[in-house]
Amino acid sequence: MDETYLTKAIILDRQDWREYDSKLTLYSPAKGKIILVARGVKKLKSKLAGHLEPISLSQIMAIRGRQVDYIGSAVNIECFVGIKSDLDKINAAGDAIRIFNNIIKEGEADESIFNLLTEFLKILDKAGKNYQLLKYFFILKLMSQLGYKPELYNCLKCKKRVSPANNYFDLSKGGLICQECNNNDNKKEILAISSDGIKVLRLAVQSYLNKMTKLKIYNKLKNEVKNIISSFQEYQIY
Ligand SMILES: [Zn+2]
Repeated sequence: MDETYLTKAIILDRQDWREYDSKLTLYSPAKGKIILVARGVKKLKSKLAGHLEPISLSQIMAIRGRQVDYIGSAVNIECFVGIKSDLDKINAAGDAIRIFNNIIKEGEADESIFNLLTEFLKILDKAGKNYQLLKYFFILKLMSQLGYKPELYNCLKCKKRVSPANNYFDLSKGGLICQECNNNDNKKEILAISSDGIKVLRLAVQSYLNKMTKLKIYNKLKNEVKNIISSFQEYQIY
């Protein structure tokens, strides 16, 4: 007899697989990242296809197979229409999910990671205009939960609390370096960071994501924060 299991899951990616099938990458609260094959979803009459769109949350019944597990049934819970009807939001969600999918390995379940991803998509779905930094804050929170939390209070070298001005962010060590300790040896790995930049990163690590969309951040600071978070992520996790 086939063994089955039920789970909620966010659909991260859908790739063609054999003639009529698709291979889906999903993230579930109890099993983490899973890969399932959906049979016949490329046929016109497929009832499954509409419930398995990437960037949506569905209730899935999976069937264990000898080589791969299959999707027995799927019912859409949330399809995030607010994201799907806005090209900029689709791009933001697509970028975040691609990075998420690269970082997260199969078979490591963590319900708090599932909740963070769901929260990110719900906030982006309902967001007005102020969401340009949301995917970066999501990535920073994700990294923090995965053990890459940056040091944002004390200098990584001398361990003293940093003063407000003239600090640097060390991409390789993951945190702040004060002016006295920065010897300019590895310029590529060291980025200057303003005191407002430090404040925004501290808030992003500590606060709920929905609070971050209420912050008013001027353009120069936006660019600084984007650059530090994306460089940090690329440096630490490829
Ligand atoms: Zn120092």
